[in-house]
Amino acid sequence: MGVSQRVKSRFRKFLQRPGTTINLAPYQKRLPGIEAREDALRELDDAALTAAAQAAGDPGEICAVGREAARRAIGERPFDVQLVGAMALLDAKVAEMATGEGKTLTAAIAAYGHVRLGRGPVHVLTVNDYLAKRDATWMEPIYTLLGLTVGWVTEASTPEERREAYAADVTYVSVSEAGFDYLRDQLVTDVADRVQRTLATAVVDEADSILIDEARVPMVLAGSLHTESDPVHEAADVVRDLRAGKHFEVADDGRSVAFTAAGLEAVEEKLGIDLYADEHVAQLSAVNVALHARALLRRDIDYIVRDGSVELIDEMRGRVAQRRRWPDGLQAAVEAKEGLTATAEGEVLDTITVQAYIALYRTVCGMTATAVHVGEQLREYFNLEVAVIPPNTPNIREDEPDRIYSAHETRDEALVEEIKIAHEKGRPVLIGTLDVKASELLSQQLAAAGVPSVVLNAKNDDEEAAIIAEAGALGAVTVSTQMAGRGVDIRLGGSDEKNRDKVVELGGLFVIGSGRHDSRRVDDQLRGRAGRQGDPGGSVFFVSLEDDLITRHAGDALPPSPRMDMDGVVHDDQAEYAVEHAQRVAEGVNHEIHRNTWRYSVVIEQQRVALAERRERLLTSEVAAIMLLERSPEKAKSLDEDILSDAARSIALYHLDRLWAEHLALLSEVREGVHLRALGKLDPLDEFHRSAVPAFQELFTQIEARTIETFEEADLSEGWEPERAQIVRPSATWTYLVHDNPFGSELDRLISAVGRRIASGAGR
Ligand code: ADP
Repeated sequence: MGVSQRVKSRFRKFLQRPGTTINLAPYQKRLPGIEAREDALRELDDAALTAAAQAAGDPGEICAVGREAARRAIGERPFDVQLVGAMALLDAKVAEMATGEGKTLTAAIAAYGHVRLGRGPVHVLTVNDYLAKRDATWMEPIYTLLGLTVGWVTEASTPEERREAYAADVTYVSVSEAGFDYLRDQLVTDVADRVQRTLATAVVDEADSILIDEARVPMVLAGSLHTESDPVHEAADVVRDLRAGKHFEVADDGRSVAFTAAGLEAVEEKLGIDLYADEHVAQLSAVNVALHARALLRRDIDYIVRDGSVELIDEMRGRVAQRRRWPDGLQAAVEAKEGLTATAEGEVLDTITVQAYIALYRTVCGMTATAVHVGEQLREYFNLEVAVIPPNTPNIREDEPDRIYSAHETRDEALVEEIKIAHEKGRPVLIGTLDVKASELLSQQLAAAGVPSVVLNAKNDDEEAAIIAEAGALGAVTVSTQMAGRGVDIRLGGSDEKNRDKVVELGGLFVIGSGRHDSRRVDDQLRGRAGRQGDPGGSVFFVSLEDDLITRHAGDALPPSPRMDMDGVVHDDQAEYAVEHAQRVAEGVNHEIHRNTWRYSVVIEQQRVALAERRERLLTSEVAAIMLLERSPEKAKSLDEDILSDAARSIALYHLDRLWAEHLALLSEVREGVHLRALGKLDPLDEFHRSAVPAFQELFTQIEARTIETFEEADLSEGWEPERAQIVRPSATWTYLVHDNPFGSELDRLISAVGRRIASGAGR
């Protein structure tokens, strides 16, 4: 791409999303002053630099000191663009910086600055444990020189380790661990048990992934619930011996399965019940879920079994989806299928979406390589603006236009041929696929063509990092699904840059997409792996008009017989339009889903905040005891003050937590239910509010009423112990993220199961 083209494409970004990107001039103006100050700082010894760091009070001084500290501590002097990025972060913006531009260092300077500006403690929220630990350890010498403490949290951290990490000025933690800690802290009965301090500032890494793509994901804290019967294992046993074709039929797309009449008969015989009798709804549901688990979810493709538990594989990212569980009993059904002790769903004690969790921070900022395309959403949901930071060295990557083919077969052939040609020259190729299956297929096709390749699939994050680090080596062919959050640098010539010159001569890393993603942003993330820090590189997407994205969203827009050249490449304005159009529609659909979920959660989040305030007061003051002195004076006055205080607090907190859990369960039931009512033409959101608001208003009166009741029944003559009031908190709690149910909600499944039953005439 020529310079003028590059300028144009940069300029286009500003035109595309008016009003969501900011002007960098005010930041750039500070650079000369920073440089002058830097010369003076260089003269100081380390102790004097630390003293200067602790005295810094404005962004210019913060950048000057931060730059000098980074140079001394890790030998990297932050570039001007990194300081501009840091200033944007200090201004609570999202900084868009290309891959390889050094966002880790930029964030560290900003984190230091936020602390100096009185906005600490700072949490740097990462996409996974691996990056939390890596970045904290990497940046630690800089923080030390700046006179700050730093900590990191991973899933394996103990409560003490967490408390210590959160006590630091800056804490690196994955967004899910941070959210889980928040949820657990909301349930403590003693202030000293909390691990987090206040949620003051969040610096969000991979901001678009976390703030937009993962925003809807609920983080769940569940508690053990003792159930007598075990319909899950029973159902797993019942469907285990059923045969495909005879007892059940799997639809062609592999996404749904139904019992045949013979299958139903077999099941009913084994269970000895009429499955469709009203009182057996639970068994019917369990058997259906078990069948889905048995027939549709494949071990080592959809999930793996490791250390006695089922771990989900994220189809898009091609790796273990840490800590995710399928909802609606599906997880337990898969565990039962694998003969594992099913980790009962438990009772949901509390849950919060990623988006709502982030909204709890007073200051939010972030960085990512691809923010502009979600500028509007960042503004809508988080009131965040984007600062587009230019690269330190101009980007000379050559982005070729899409190569469009009319069918999968011709596309795949051309794709393999293209990789083969590049590989034979020794040029490293990184191929991004849409899902795990496509990765595997391509790798087989490559092998058949004599091209060895490495596939990234559900390995752990550390191993993956090592593989990605070598993707720029001479002759490397690496196949991978989504690249976001795989925060590793791809250096030309391999991680040691041994063959850098040769690879540069060959044109640098060649990135190929084997199909367009659901969003342009993800395409850009993939492209962005080439051409890092001014390296040469290239990118191209191979598209088939049979790709899901296109048939689903632009099927009508396709020309009946597109014009093709001799190699089968489509050259047709209408076809090109269809490809772009399909992606825009897909982006629109995702945005709509996001907005819809958000509309429901707004009311829940307001209620959570109100409840948290009440809980805090119960926990840290004597309001519960005062209430009991008023409402149950006789007994309250007869007790020793300390006993009353402890008993009142514990009982009130217990009921508040229980009622909140019940309230959440009610809300999710209502939510499922309103869609049915929506068929009756009422606005489901209105309906939802009509149930949620009064239910919450009653909550506080109920807490009081139940507290009084429990208090009056408790035998407190010999002091306070929870057992005296029959208060039993969950004996064990665990946390997980809710994964999309691959087959739709339980309700959808039941409806379709019933529908099929009617259609197949299996009823009696
Ligand atoms: P990003 O997260 O933006 O993709 P990283 O933070 O992983 O980038 O940094 C990419 C590479 O650039 C790292 O190897 C880092 O050491 C290097 N780097 C970052 N800033 C500088 C700098 N100012 N000078 C030299 N190297 C730098």
